[in-house]
Amino acid sequence: MHTPSVAMVLRDPTLSPHLRAAARKIYDGVRLTPADGLLLYEEAPLGYLGALANYVREQKHGDRTYFNRNFHVEPTNVCLYTCSFCSYSRRMKKREDGWEYSLEDIMDIVKKYDDTLVTEVHIVGGVLPQYDVPFYTELFQRIKAHRPELHIKALTPVEYHYIFKKAKISYEEGMRLMKEAGLDSMPGGGAEIFADEIRDQIAGGKCSGEQWLRIHEIWHELGMRSNATMLYGHIENYGHRIDHLEKLRALQDKTGGFQTYIPLKFRNENNELSHLPETTVVEDLRNYAIGRLYLDNFDHVKAYWPMIGRTTAQLSLAFGVDDLDGTIDDTTRIYSMAGGEQHPAMSTEDLVKMIRSVGRQPIERDTLYGVLKDFTDVGFASDKEYRGYTALPVV
Ligand code: SF4
Repeated sequence: MHTPSVAMVLRDPTLSPHLRAAARKIYDGVRLTPADGLLLYEEAPLGYLGALANYVREQKHGDRTYFNRNFHVEPTNVCLYTCSFCSYSRRMKKREDGWEYSLEDIMDIVKKYDDTLVTEVHIVGGVLPQYDVPFYTELFQRIKAHRPELHIKALTPVEYHYIFKKAKISYEEGMRLMKEAGLDSMPGGGAEIFADEIRDQIAGGKCSGEQWLRIHEIWHELGMRSNATMLYGHIENYGHRIDHLEKLRALQDKTGGFQTYIPLKFRNENNELSHLPETTVVEDLRNYAIGRLYLDNFDHVKAYWPMIGRTTAQLSLAFGVDDLDGTIDDTTRIYSMAGGEQHPAMSTEDLVKMIRSVGRQPIERDTLYGVLKDFTDVGFASDKEYRGYTALPVV
């Protein structure tokens, strides 16, 4: 993928003075204002955004492209809430169609990976009364007792807000209990779009944007790290996206506790918003690039390949993304149920080759971005046959 260089963008006589001024700011390391961000969303061409986002990405990471080996546990796909974009949850009235794992069931899944080189378990799912503070603290303790070095990245403020309220404890007390039980970090989910007028329509009843940010803030104050997402491409407008990014950037200024920003594309299968078209690949790439440019205080931008597909994930590496999630091993249903990849699993070899075939340097990391292995020159038995990944057409 060839995007114009920054020098070409800065000299481009066809650009409007506003876009040229924004490019100059980025090149000089000056922070973008909300008005600049909106301008980029409304007017910036794809090549312009790619050149600038790639410049920032390479300033921060060179060609290094991170991935980790993880598996997901989804304790239940039944949920009290009824988010209109959600293809995953089974309503309470159709509860028998879903699954509800016990502690033993979850431990059995964790133990299946005992002989596998994984460094992280990612736990997230629906919200139900039996999954409460005692359930999760016991789960985290049992996972740590069984495999102490496995990093537990678990639950979002959506679950935490619900279980702490039910237990009648404060966010501060609740997050302290989770930390003591063995929680290592928080994933970025449940953020959706922070603006109330959108959130009330697509995710009414669950934690507000403000509460989402507050729980992350408290977690960061405990010296811990987390990620942040934005669900885009449904009923929000560009102003809502910038408002969302602005709130993330402001909290990051305060705490420095976010590691990674992960834009999540709205997928339209099997949910109440199925009448909405999905964003195009061009819009997806523009959105990655603007996230990279706006969030100047975030170290990483991640593409979640089960959601956008492998080819777009490869392309995203030229639009500001420096991290691909992950090997996953067919353990999440969240995006396959919404129209994403049906059995998301990738071997380390596949992932490494996907990264190498677009000229980047694959680095296996742990959850906190400690480097575990540089795969740049690691040979694989099937290297000779590999000529890059091409997605097969779906019949
Ligand atoms: S998005 Fe999460 S909280 Fe909303 S219905 Fe789906 S599982 Fe429940």
